[in-house]
Amino acid sequence: MSGRPPRPARAWLLYLAVGLGIEVVYYLVPASSGGVVARVVLYCLVSASASVAVFVGVWRNEPRPPLPWILLGLSQVVYASADAYFYVAHYLLGDLDYPSVADPLYLAHYPLVVAGLLLLIRQRRPGRDLPGVLDAAVLAVVAAMLSWLYVIGPQARMDSPILAKLASLGYPVMDLALLSVALPLVLGEGSRPRSFFLLTANLVGIMTADTIYVLQQLAGTYHAGNFLDAIWLTANLALGTAALDPTMSRVGEKAPPRVSRLGPVRIAVTFAAVLVAPATLVVQYVTDSLQDVLVVAVACAVLFLLTILRMVGLVAAQRKLAITDGLTGLYTRRFFEAQLPIELARARRANGSAAVLIIDVDRFKSINDRYGHPAGDRVLIEIAARLSRTVRSGEVLARYGGEEFALVVPNISEETLPIVAERLRAQVAAGPIAITQQTAVPVTVSVGTASYPVHGDTPGELVSMADRALYAAKASGRDRIVVTGLLSANGAPGPDVDRMLVDYLCEVADQVDGWLSSYEHSRAIGRWSTVLAERMGLDTTAVRCSEMAGRLHDVGKIVIPESVLRKPGTLAEDEWRLVRSHPDFGFRLARMLPGYDGVARVIRQHHERFDGQGYPEGLSGNEIRVEARLLGVCDAWAAMRSDRPYQPARTEDEARVEIRDGRGTQFDPDVADLFLDLHHKGLVGELQLIVPTADGLVLPPISHPRPR
Ligand code: GH3
Ligand code: MG
Ligand code: MG
Repeated sequence: MSGRPPRPARAWLLYLAVGLGIEVVYYLVPASSGGVVARVVLYCLVSASASVAVFVGVWRNEPRPPLPWILLGLSQVVYASADAYFYVAHYLLGDLDYPSVADPLYLAHYPLVVAGLLLLIRQRRPGRDLPGVLDAAVLAVVAAMLSWLYVIGPQARMDSPILAKLASLGYPVMDLALLSVALPLVLGEGSRPRSFFLLTANLVGIMTADTIYVLQQLAGTYHAGNFLDAIWLTANLALGTAALDPTMSRVGEKAPPRVSRLGPVRIAVTFAAVLVAPATLVVQYVTDSLQDVLVVAVACAVLFLLTILRMVGLVAAQRKLAITDGLTGLYTRRFFEAQLPIELARARRANGSAAVLIIDVDRFKSINDRYGHPAGDRVLIEIAARLSRTVRSGEVLARYGGEEFALVVPNISEETLPIVAERLRAQVAAGPIAITQQTAVPVTVSVGTASYPVHGDTPGELVSMADRALYAAKASGRDRIVVTGLLSANGAPGPDVDRMLVDYLCEVADQVDGWLSSYEHSRAIGRWSTVLAERMGLDTTAVRCSEMAGRLHDVGKIVIPESVLRKPGTLAEDEWRLVRSHPDFGFRLARMLPGYDGVARVIRQHHERFDGQGYPEGLSGNEIRVEARLLGVCDAWAAMRSDRPYQPARTEDEARVEIRDGRGTQFDPDVADLFLDLHHKGLVGELQLIVPTADGLVLPPISHPRPR
């Protein structure tokens, strides 16, 4: 704190009250003989006090930087000097010359105000505020036109001495200059404490009184000491009060960010102002007083142009909103999907290339789980910022999903693609991300890429290739990049990538099983389904399909919260709906694997019932694929034979009864009979205990599916 005297918080109010009191006295003092001196003294006292008040305000309130207010203070010094000269000459010396020394002084105060206001505007709004500037321009043009028609023009045409003419033109022109900076100040962005409104009052007062003064001069009705003095004096007091008010130091602050100041009222008002010019023309035409048509026409044209610019700005702002992700500020997925075909078409035309990179945050769910969703959001924002830093012009970086990002890079060679991908990965992993003042978490991403024309022609192909490469990156340990094509010679993702993807989904299946029971589930079903399929004499493709569908049939449950899956009681309607969606999610996951269309379809059907009462489609009998029918029996057996959160395990005999009872209703009777027979022979139906490991995965000795 400085060693200044404590601030009387209400000094500004006291100043205003005393000032207004003096004004009243000014009007009460008779303008005759003895009173005149008193009047001049009182008038000059108020006008000079305002300049002192501004400097006292600067000293007490310490605006940062002080320059704008110092300029305003200086302008008031010049203004008060002009007042002193004018009133002394006018009243005491009887010198009625026009112009006099006072006029250049009055005129000289404007540039100082304009400079001070411009600095304030810059401070309040460091960026661009095009809408504010355009709205202000519309009003300034309207004012300039009216001023020309009714003030400047008549002055210019008057038959008066050149100096008088210059002075009379100087005021409206300077007022216009003042208006052109006052409008952006008032309409633009920035904080609006009390002092701001007092400053606005000062500007409005000065400009109003000046305009009336010139009009009265034109009409020959002005006489010193009329009501205009009250407006000028009050305006001076408003400036002094604005500076003394402790909120003065906040006038230069930026406004709190808000989405948009473009309210409908403001748009309506500015657009209505545009109509003033043509309306003036109509009025002149109707009253048969057409003049300065060229000026009005130019004003119309400029206003028209400004309106168009304003519309363009509005459309651009809307468009920006539509293609910008609200959380991260990156492009939206929709924009990405619109842009990708354009980039590919461009690459095709130029015989060039383009790459798609999909970037997924590793184990992001655990960040949410541990620190909460808002912390997760902060991490996403920072990741987006880090990714953006590596992006160059022409590249499109979008938020592709929750914690997934996508990048299109035009014209990129096979050699540079891994470098770009690695740069993204490294940038995110560069350092932990702060989520609170005390806590920071290390975050990594996995990146999958594919490029045109090597790995695909269409946006869909490229994205799914990049997606698969991403899964491969996840499967092989995360925090890494996989460039499609590098893992195989022929450009298409080779068996290595495919294998990694399958392994990853198997891992997901194990994870889900681990949530539900301490006994294996999908591994066993994969084995039993194989035995059943072979015994039924299905061909090798169907046998393999049965095995993999058995192994992966529950992967769709990964989208169901653990709390729902493990809920002991009855499920609520929406929980039940979510559970019933897992065959479909599983279908979509499995379909991403090359050659797994059949498996995916079987997964989708594994809760259909033989009597048509199952889901999701209510298929019946042979409409259900045979692999799904045998999977249904195996699934039911495995579920009955292990403890579930909602029911304890049944004995073998109880389970056999259930399967038998379900012949023809839940199960295909032939498959049910075959299963019971094979179980009797000890070939199917046994379950192993699974062993949870440190990172939550379940790993009994793995019997991998045979490679196709
Ligand atoms: P992996 O390494 O396999 O990608 O694991 P992961 O946990 O990142 O993947 P998963 O897809 O299981 O989890 C993604 C999580 O991202 C789940 C979802 O709650 C979270 N998420 C999605 N969108 C947002 C978001 O806008 N904000 C926050 N905080 N979390 C989100
Ligand atoms: Mg993730
Ligand atoms: Mg994800």
